[in-house]
Amino acid sequence: MNIALIAHDKKKQDIINFTVAYTPVLKDHSLFATGTTGMKIAEATGLEIHRFQSGPLGGDQQIGAMIADNKMDLVIFFKDPLTAQPHEPDIAALIRLCDVYQIPLASNMASAEIFIHALERGDLDWREIIRKRGEEEA
Ligand code: PGA
Repeated sequence: MNIALIAHDKKKQDIINFTVAYTPVLKDHSLFATGTTGMKIAEATGLEIHRFQSGPLGGDQQIGAMIADNKMDLVIFFKDPLTAQPHEPDIAALIRLCDVYQIPLASNMASAEIFIHALERGDLDWREIIRKRGEEEA
């Protein structure tokens, strides 16, 4: 599965704790992240992560482009609901694309934990089928 990991600054420690805890699960998947989030996760876990631009510099849009191309299967995005973000339109666009393409989106740790367990159980395997179908048609 292709998994996107994003965290706003005040949630960076949370996503580090989360990815450290779930490294045994995440290591079997292809990981993508916005720039700073990806750097911090890679440092803390040693996981291999494709890093896009930092969020405010277009990273959220790059992940959105993968969704539009049917190449992203799950988005874990620890949003900070208490701080205004300079790239709010990009964040809204990313969330919108998840809804357009029916991509599972966890916006906080509580839902991300459920998704990780679902991933382990195979509940998201339907995404593999849909993604491969898209690749065949391309
Ligand atoms: P960052 O971007 O990982 O580069 O900090 C995240 C964001 O703010 O969208």
